[in-house]
Amino acid sequence: MHEVDMTRCLLLSMGEWKQQHAPRQPRVSTVHLQVGAFTCVEPDQLVFTWEAAVQGSWLAGARLAIEPVPLLGRCVLCSSTYAPLQEQGYRSPCCNHPMEEIVSGRELRIRSVEYALDDPPANASLPSSSTSTCVPCA
Ligand SMILES: [Zn+2]
Repeated sequence: MHEVDMTRCLLLSMGEWKQQHAPRQPRVSTVHLQVGAFTCVEPDQLVFTWEAAVQGSWLAGARLAIEPVPLLGRCVLCSSTYAPLQEQGYRSPCCNHPMEEIVSGRELRIRSVEYALDDPPANASLPSSSTSTCVPCA
């Protein structure tokens, strides 16, 4: 269940993002997320997990909009880029070389956040600070 770990990681990242606005409270409507085709993350499953996780939290109602990023490899023999296919074992069509370099398709990052800022609440409680890096296929 990579999606559960990824959702937890996204929530941590969003918590850090929220701190940048303290003591004002951002109300998030949409989180735009780039998800590479070569991650172990199933977009539908991630949206499902996200929606369950944000219920009752400060992110309740925030939608996760997933922007797929295609897998692109670079052939190390002739430097051309190609779209690797699983059926061909991800080998390059030009030189039939195994995929060694990935140009794109491994990303999982928050590209942008749509939000509005509320007035500062009387008693703003800050989340504890944390740092995180999302690694889809560690
Ligand atoms: Zn080649």
